[in-house]
Amino acid sequence: MKVLVATEKPFAKIAVDGIRKEIETAGFELVLLEKYTNKSQLLDAVKDADAIIIRSDVIDAEVLSVAQKLKIVVRAGAGYDNVDLDSATAHNVCVMNTPGQNSNAVAELALGMMVYAVRNFYNGTSGTELMGKKLGIHAYGNVGRNVARLAKGFGMDIYAYDAFCPQEVMKQDGIKVCSSVQELYETCNIVSLHIPATAETKNSIDYALLKNMPKGSLLVNTARKEVINEAELLKLMEERSDFKYLTDIMPARHADFIGKYAERYFSTPKKMGAQTAEANINAGIAAAQQIVGFLKDGCDKFRVNK
Ligand code: NAD
Repeated sequence: MKVLVATEKPFAKIAVDGIRKEIETAGFELVLLEKYTNKSQLLDAVKDADAIIIRSDVIDAEVLSVAQKLKIVVRAGAGYDNVDLDSATAHNVCVMNTPGQNSNAVAELALGMMVYAVRNFYNGTSGTELMGKKLGIHAYGNVGRNVARLAKGFGMDIYAYDAFCPQEVMKQDGIKVCSSVQELYETCNIVSLHIPATAETKNSIDYALLKNMPKGSLLVNTARKEVINEAELLKLMEERSDFKYLTDIMPARHADFIGKYAERYFSTPKKMGAQTAEANINAGIAAAQQIVGFLKDGCDKFRVNK
């Protein structure tokens, strides 16, 4: 069995070594296609692959149609919108992601952004502390839970809202549960966003929701830019000079935000939440382990297509 690692942006060497160990210990062959510059190289490499590990690499209908032996694609990471799921299903190919492997990295960035914001972007003026502040965690999934764990260390008063996570799970972690998204935003000084981009959540962080946040509020977004209604957030920031927005996903209207609100708006130049050596290694090795589990035992725990 051939396992192809197809990465336009390669894994670190230590991650590749870990992947190789998992694959070869299972008796499979590892093939590397790194830093490819042309889709034809990918099309060529997938022809005899039984499994593929990718990062942000695009697996579309054309790739799937030439990968005649392919049984599984694993996206080493959380998001998998770079894989054509319908086409994979039509070709009887299992698609998985590696949830949770980069959650601590993203959570650390979220807390770092909070400190940066409450200390006024380290501009030499006196700021505030996180201790005792009400933190609202919007979605208590893998990243949200890690944010809660870290925020406890800062002594924050932690609230959460999740549309699907059972309340008992949050309560067991010592989190105060909000029964609606409105309640979360009305209650908390700081809200950290951890919702996925779905039909329901897209554009859902809007003026009506944000306007009720207490004075001196901060919104931190390490989730997705699509969940923000940018026009309405701009309107809110125009009306409320006490409101700060920090994001790891540059808004489409970045120029408007930075042009008008540079002292209370910040965006990373490119998405950095999962950009740590540890997350990179963890996700790569988890992808290899999931492939071995699937090919040897049929385990499809992290399957994302039907
Ligand atoms: P996850 O799937 O583990 O958790 C998502 C949570 O959202 C789940 O608990 C789910 O119940 C909840 N949810 C879904 N729809 C909801 C809704 N309408 N209202 C409230 N809650 C809802 O995902 P995760 O790994 O924690 O990732 C969270 C977000 O972070 C995603 O948007 C993901 O794309 C993003 N992310 C960003 C980076 C980065 O580099 N910045 C890296 C990884 C993940």
